[in-house]
Amino acid sequence: MEKIKAVRGTKDILPHEVNKWQFLENKAREIFSLYGYKEIRTPIFEEISLFVRGIGQGTDIVRKEMYVFDDRKGRKLCLRPEGTAGVMRAFLEHNLADNSITKLFYTGPMFRYERPQAGRYRQHTQIGVEAIGSAEPSLDAEVISLVYNYFILAGLENIQVELNSVGCEKCRGKYKDILKEALAKNVTAFCPDCQERFNLNVLRMFDCKIPECQNFLNEAPKITDAICPDCQAHLAEVKAHLDLLKINYKMNPRLVRGLDYYTRTTFEIIFSSLGSQNAIAAGGRYDKLIHELGGDEIPGIGFAMGVERIVLALDSIGKKWPEMSSLEVYNIAVGSQKAYEYLFELTNKFRQSGISCEIDHRQRSLKSQLKTADKLKAKRVIILGDQELEKGIVLLRSMNTGVQREIKFEELFDLVKKEVLP
Ligand code: ATP
Ligand code: MG
Repeated sequence: MEKIKAVRGTKDILPHEVNKWQFLENKAREIFSLYGYKEIRTPIFEEISLFVRGIGQGTDIVRKEMYVFDDRKGRKLCLRPEGTAGVMRAFLEHNLADNSITKLFYTGPMFRYERPQAGRYRQHTQIGVEAIGSAEPSLDAEVISLVYNYFILAGLENIQVELNSVGCEKCRGKYKDILKEALAKNVTAFCPDCQERFNLNVLRMFDCKIPECQNFLNEAPKITDAICPDCQAHLAEVKAHLDLLKINYKMNPRLVRGLDYYTRTTFEIIFSSLGSQNAIAAGGRYDKLIHELGGDEIPGIGFAMGVERIVLALDSIGKKWPEMSSLEVYNIAVGSQKAYEYLFELTNKFRQSGISCEIDHRQRSLKSQLKTADKLKAKRVIILGDQELEKGIVLLRSMNTGVQREIKFEELFDLVKKEVLP
């Protein structure tokens, strides 16, 4: 029979590499908590309308990337393509607003029907944060510094922060008109998607991944020249605060992002040697989103990082990932059933005391059990044969030094415990 394979664009994270994902998640928990972020876990599927309203009808995500389905009662549902909309829904549903800034983070899978390639999957993992309740530009700088510091502390130093402002509802319309006018005579030269974007939301053309389209946009008027004085002032303050934190950034007036909810600040973190999928994190301000989802006018800002791309980036610079937790004790019984039973019980006792321990259920030869202990990177082995059993001792061998000691039964447990949990 033909074997069933993982669905196109999805991948298994296997036991020998899952430590990378765990490292990045743990690092995030550690660093986010320094900034006061609390974890939130929202469902993997939501009503379609949440994303259509939140992300915007004209975006690639809503037009062609969502995994939508009807459930058995005909509800229109969707696997989440991103994290922000669900977090905002939960924020409103549970009245999470308080007087200070509500700081939330999440981690988990996102689903987008995209063309699979290196760094682009149909299921990928994001770690993201949302800081809700302040429109101050210093918060933008703090959020950018958070993602920046995360990468430095995770060991990825060669990163570039790209910054832009997409203005507000007052000035963006005017810029769109200017842009449309500038592009109108050339519009047929762009790809069919861009021609559609020209009509739906001309800003989206900047988000096209096709190099020719990007070249045509080289001469296009810059959004940062067109935004209103308030948005200009906001951007200037964000920059001033980034300077204060000594964070280098590059202005990129084409950085409009693939979601319609952004206002003012947008940013991306680029690791350029990843090739075309080089954005390892991206985010921005969304001062209108909560209102659009039925809440008050509450401003916010956030970002999401792509874990698979970060793994690719760190692998490319030869990152030494933390080892999987190693095994403290490997118990080897050779000979009688009695020796095996003694160690079977001891294995349980070690585990109950928080000490990792393994035993060979098949009771193979000493040589093969030692091989397994080596493979499992056991720090020490306990060997019990009939001779030792008679004398009431075991052999305790350190796998690092090879030193082997005879230990009395009654001293064994406490001695190992003291070594492992000093
Ligand atoms: P891109 O421009 O590369 O398509 P995006 O703008 O669609 O990215 P966001 O929606 O901002 O990306 O998602 C945040 C981060 O999640 C991205 O910076 C990227 O690192 C990662 N990401 C997005 N889509 C994918 C995907 N299909 N596969 C793997 N990682 C992804
Ligand atoms: Mg995308």
